[in-house]
Amino acid sequence: MSGPNSDYDPVEVTPLKPEEVEAARDAALAAIGAATDLEGLKRVRIEHTGDRSPLALANREIGALPPQARKEAGQRIGQARGAVNKALAERQAVLEVEHEERMLVEETVDVTLPTDRVAAGARHPITTGSERIADVFLAMGWEVAEGPVIEAEWLNFDALNLGADHPARTMQDTFWTEPQDQGIVLRTHTSPVQARTMLTRTPPIYVVCPGRVFRTDEYDATHSPMFHQVEGLVVDEGITMAHLKGTLDHFAESMFGEGITTRFRPSYFPFTEPSAEVDLVCFVCRGAAGVVESCRTCRGEGWIEWGGCGMVNPRVLRACGVDPERFTGFAFGMGIDRTLMFRHAIEDLRGFFEGDVRFTTAFGTEI
Ligand SMILES: [Zn+2]
Repeated sequence: MSGPNSDYDPVEVTPLKPEEVEAARDAALAAIGAATDLEGLKRVRIEHTGDRSPLALANREIGALPPQARKEAGQRIGQARGAVNKALAERQAVLEVEHEERMLVEETVDVTLPTDRVAAGARHPITTGSERIADVFLAMGWEVAEGPVIEAEWLNFDALNLGADHPARTMQDTFWTEPQDQGIVLRTHTSPVQARTMLTRTPPIYVVCPGRVFRTDEYDATHSPMFHQVEGLVVDEGITMAHLKGTLDHFAESMFGEGITTRFRPSYFPFTEPSAEVDLVCFVCRGAAGVVESCRTCRGEGWIEWGGCGMVNPRVLRACGVDPERFTGFAFGMGIDRTLMFRHAIEDLRGFFEGDVRFTTAFGTEI
């Protein structure tokens, strides 16, 4: 060890000249005064009081000075740093007030201005409508069955007792995929889902089949080459047409309200025997005398056509591997789009398919 100052090397430690300290202080004060916002002041603070600032470096060097020089240097540097810190604090306070005042002005919200807020999305009315229909049947313990929209000709027609010469098999109704002889169609009804269900499961069967179907129809206010159907199928022991009637009355009341029941008119469908057209009590006039005559919805009938139904033809049961001696069943089908048009008083079917949000918004934003 050496004695005090005996090996002090002035090259390693820069002596602190008073004018240098003053210059550093003045530079800092000038920068502080020139800072116009809080961000700028933050940079000034780092530059002039941070670890690498001239005054901080000078402060560190005090300890390396000869003892007799330390006191004076310490005072000088301490005063300079004190002045800088005080100026910083004052400037900070001023700029904070300015900042707050500016924010109050800049961020003022004029609640009277029109907004351009993006509307919340919602599910399509066909989707929510299909689910609402399915829920009616799920509540009775039924299941939802689904199938492909590109379907085998056999499942779309033959299995359902629609022979090769049936009019529905002509090009007028059906979209065939090319080449036509491979027997693949866009399903013309959801009935192939019924056939698939019977082929893969054993009774008792209680299924509802909502889905998209395709026919070569015109596109106008009441027709579309693509639309939506819901079909129901029950196959069990002892099923009668009374079960069918009760089921459809319940379905109708669930969709249209109490008292809106159904009536059957004899009809013909290849896959049911006997078959019936299903009509609804007109939900506008309810068939009431004095009102029905002028009702535009049912055109004075008191009834509105809704769909078709019947007891499953034993030939269909047999084709799908179900013993018609033991089991009977019923089936029905109606348009989902048509049902929703009734329910929501929609006059043009095309609204469902043209993607105008003003149409779908009218159904609300239920999820
Ligand atoms: Zn009516």
